[in-house]
Amino acid sequence: MGSGQVTDWQGKHVTVAGLGVSGVPAAKVLHARGAVVTVVNDGDDARAREQAAELEALGVTVRLGDGATLPEGTELIVTAPGWKPDKPLFAAARAAGIEIWGDVELAWRLRGPDAAPWLAVTGTNGKTTTVQMLASILKAAGLRTAAVGNIGVSLLDAVLGDEEYDVLAVELSSYQLHWAPSLRAHSAAVLNLAPDHLDWHGSMEAYAKDKGRIYEGNRVACVYNVADKLTEDLVREADVEEGCRAIGFTLGTPGPSQLGVVDGILVDRAFVENRHKNAQELAEVSDVNPPAPHNIANALAAAALARAFGVPPTAVRDGLRNFRPDAHRIAHVADVDGVAYVDDSKATNTHAAEASLASYESIVWIAGGLAKGATFDELVARSARRLRGVVLIGADRALIRDALARHAPEVPVVDLDRTDTGAMLAAVQEARRLAVAGDTVLLAPACASMDMFANYNKRGDAFAQAVRELGA
Ligand code: ADP
Repeated sequence: MGSGQVTDWQGKHVTVAGLGVSGVPAAKVLHARGAVVTVVNDGDDARAREQAAELEALGVTVRLGDGATLPEGTELIVTAPGWKPDKPLFAAARAAGIEIWGDVELAWRLRGPDAAPWLAVTGTNGKTTTVQMLASILKAAGLRTAAVGNIGVSLLDAVLGDEEYDVLAVELSSYQLHWAPSLRAHSAAVLNLAPDHLDWHGSMEAYAKDKGRIYEGNRVACVYNVADKLTEDLVREADVEEGCRAIGFTLGTPGPSQLGVVDGILVDRAFVENRHKNAQELAEVSDVNPPAPHNIANALAAAALARAFGVPPTAVRDGLRNFRPDAHRIAHVADVDGVAYVDDSKATNTHAAEASLASYESIVWIAGGLAKGATFDELVARSARRLRGVVLIGADRALIRDALARHAPEVPVVDLDRTDTGAMLAAVQEARRLAVAGDTVLLAPACASMDMFANYNKRGDAFAQAVRELGA
């Protein structure tokens, strides 16, 4: 089907793999354009049946409980991004020379000829925050924009809806990038790369390669993290448009073609006249909410993309000032007896937790949950000197306890042998006992939440509730 926009869907046999957030809208749109759509889905539960009934009423064929067999006559597969590449359905498709697109590829192909360009962001951590900062900056510049993609706002809706945009701030996951072969962003950033989702991608190399896809065909700037060489390597390997520049961001003093920090000021030495001599002041570190080191890095990445799009410095400052982080991302809950209680429940992997722990000097750390195959030695070794004490909860807490015994044997550890929901109150009470005035009690679990809570939001809510009970 080539690699450009597709306009004629009449009679095309398209198989949509997976019902759900992306599958249902994809099936509807393709059906409305005249394609002959079959949806295949592994599950056959009540929710799937409900969705199937809705689609069947429109004339879409749905096969529940069989996501493995390739429907006869399939010319194209549109898959939910989470489906693993080694599924039998895809093996059959590849053998037959059938293209496989994800939700992002579909949106890219369906966008109109005058569609808004995309400023795209990926990375192991910080994607949502950076994309929201970017949207805030673009809005401050008077541009019509939205933060879309992996952040809960469907790209398909953004691309096909009635709302008109000048530019989109797009968050992309590694899965989405894997399935988006012809995406070409105006400019893009890879924030950082640490092992994550390796069970899906198969290896760190494959994961990095999929993340690196975001740079392919960039027109103006490939933004990388100076402190993370892997991201710079990906820029080097990318095939970009003539004249596209590599732009670094750093928490240190920026070199030419970089954005960085000098004396508490975010400065731009990339998008200025004579970048070898000049620097442009963009904002103060205190304009970033919260001004934790990793978040300043996110702000610099967002600023780099906005500047690549031609946004003036004052809009960067105003956009950063207007930005409010989502809940459960280094959210200050309360001070009790001179101790700050901070909810970073969204720190669901070790890389995020390390950034979180690096933001405070003296910490009582609440950690644990589902480790997803992670190891904790590096995290604990690097953070040990900041730890006043540790309270462990959740299914895989022994892994963290063992790492603490190896790298921080002098730090007091309370090992709560509980995974019930009430355990959070006990954890907060234990943390209070360990903390002294001036400390921060930090929920940065380094683990997923599903052993004890429905999701990380619920875990953060339980923490905040427990803190309120302390203060009462
Ligand atoms: P994502 O969308 O990639 O999951 P978020 O912006 O939601 O990222 O942040 C998730 C968590 O990752 C935050 O709660 C914080 O602990 C951590 N984090 C945010 N930005 C960074 C960064 N640049 N480097 C490392 N960790 C980060």
